[in-house]
Amino acid sequence: MENYKDTMIRAVAADAQINAFAITSRDLTETARQAHNTSPIATAALGRAMSGALMMADMLKGPRDLLTLQIDGDGPMQGLVVTADNKGNVKGYVKNPSVILPPNAQGHLNVGGAIGAGTLTVIRDMNLKDPYIGQIPLVTGEIAEDLTAYYAQSEQIPSSVGLGVLMNRDNTVRRAGGFVVQLMPFADEEVISRLEENIRGISSVTAMLEEENTPDHLLETVLRGFDLQINTREDVRFHCNCSRERFERGLILLGEKELESIAAEGKEIELHCQFCSRSYKYTPDEIQRLRMIAKQPAADYNK
Ligand code: ZN
Repeated sequence: MENYKDTMIRAVAADAQINAFAITSRDLTETARQAHNTSPIATAALGRAMSGALMMADMLKGPRDLLTLQIDGDGPMQGLVVTADNKGNVKGYVKNPSVILPPNAQGHLNVGGAIGAGTLTVIRDMNLKDPYIGQIPLVTGEIAEDLTAYYAQSEQIPSSVGLGVLMNRDNTVRRAGGFVVQLMPFADEEVISRLEENIRGISSVTAMLEEENTPDHLLETVLRGFDLQINTREDVRFHCNCSRERFERGLILLGEKELESIAAEGKEIELHCQFCSRSYKYTPDEIQRLRMIAKQPAADYNK
């Protein structure tokens, strides 16, 4: 399930007037595609969202902080959910993984059409009592434009977000990645206009990755002419933290009575993880064992 070839970098440019992130995510997008058996449009949506979430999560400080992007739309894909931590792990799923649509007017995978009109919700869980939640209406549903709008509207940070996924003819993932470039409040006019000019001149993320499949190449192209200083470099991967034990804890929380009635049916039950598609089976005997645990005071198992 796991692979470690994808890389994310974090950089500054123009004497730290620009903060920048870039990522290659081909392997983690392909891993997600295989886990969920996603159609090309669903793979593109999921890959773009996972790249974006990983870069946004890299801005979090605490070791257990999590960032979730939730997109809800009225299109045939309905939406998606991805969650990333700041150690390079991401997981996610689309609501309808088998959606297929004709290409859009530009001849590309019609991610915006598959998502439709709706909302983007960004949830930053920093282990406080309440997570920080920001929500905006979707701009295009193409995800990069929506994240750019989120930063402008919810966080007042002028940003440019580029995300891309390119498929092979056999519907495996050929390239995936993206960048986030943000201007600091003290950025001067010259830096701003040069950056805007650069961004107008770049080709798509996947075209840049076809030239050279590194996050460095993305930032060197987007920030051409600036003094780029790369500060961190880390591996990123598709990884779900679900486990048999986690699902058992969930079952125990159902309580003794509910578990008794499940066990009484005498059938094996199968629980499914939405984020990675793994499933976990429990026999009636195991349900009985969990029922006995549920009978005990909470302190005994809820550690
Ligand atoms: Zn899972």
